[in-house]
Amino acid sequence: MNPTLYILGSNSATPTRERHPTSQILKIDNQKIMIDCGEGTQNQLLKFGVRHTGISHICISHLHGDHYFGLIGLLSTMSLSGRKEDLHLIGPPPLKEIIDLQILHGGIHLNFEIVFYPTQPDAKSLVIQTKSFEIISFPLKHRIHCTGFLIHELPKGRHIIKSEVEKHNIPFVYYNSLKAGSDFTASDGTIIPNKQLTEDPTPTIKYAFCSDTIFDPEIVKYIHKVDVLYHEATFMKNQEDRAKLYFHSTAEQAATIAKMAEVGQLFIGHFSSRYDNLNLLLEESKTIFENTYLAEEGKSFEIIKAANYLTI
Ligand SMILES: [Zn+2]
Ligand SMILES: [Zn+2]
Repeated sequence: MNPTLYILGSNSATPTRERHPTSQILKIDNQKIMIDCGEGTQNQLLKFGVRHTGISHICISHLHGDHYFGLIGLLSTMSLSGRKEDLHLIGPPPLKEIIDLQILHGGIHLNFEIVFYPTQPDAKSLVIQTKSFEIISFPLKHRIHCTGFLIHELPKGRHIIKSEVEKHNIPFVYYNSLKAGSDFTASDGTIIPNKQLTEDPTPTIKYAFCSDTIFDPEIVKYIHKVDVLYHEATFMKNQEDRAKLYFHSTAEQAATIAKMAEVGQLFIGHFSSRYDNLNLLLEESKTIFENTYLAEEGKSFEIIKAANYLTI
């Protein structure tokens, strides 16, 4: 199954009746990576039927409240639900101190360990690597220490052609080496080439998350040719001065970054509460980068290789 992105919230600063602050989950294999955790995120998980079990990693971009005020509530619920597995938490260094203080003064006892990984404010850095993916942080230009995240799915094994391995009576213990690309040598010395027994693996994907940031072409080098880019688009072009003042971007600027970085698809979010009709932001972005979608809460997107999109 291809990785799937679940949007739990994508509003900026203040919530509206219909829209919640930033949070999303990228599901790769059976692991869920949460990115940002604004207030109300655990309610959004319930509303959209996304279970918090299986969240192995939580990445927090920065310490403005609309990106992490839901975290302590979610951690408490995980513990009350009997979680035992370690949780990998990634974010600016003071996040650890904040969570520790909330736990201490709230008399909270967590039944699981939080393994904390501080992000770097000034440089791209590999934060964590698992068997299935790696998480890389990179600097964004915002009013406080803020990073984007790159999530790269790691190469998968080749697909075994069942009928072929059965035809040649290849024992199960050889499957891993076949998946890794080895040929099979039979007991009589006959070599069966790997390409006869396996097919190419499913292509892996690259996802980039950029929120919050002023328009900054410097980030293009980090996100070049990702399959999907999420970029904030807090305002429309007629509020460009305001966007600059608060270190945010317009829909047109998000699209310009997507075009410069030659990404496959652009999802825009972090919408200002002033906009009732988000299609205005979508239309503005599409004038520069056609393959744009609104990252509206409740939506989920299967992420596939950019080469498979028809529109690029
Ligand atoms: Zn924000
Ligand atoms: Zn912010």
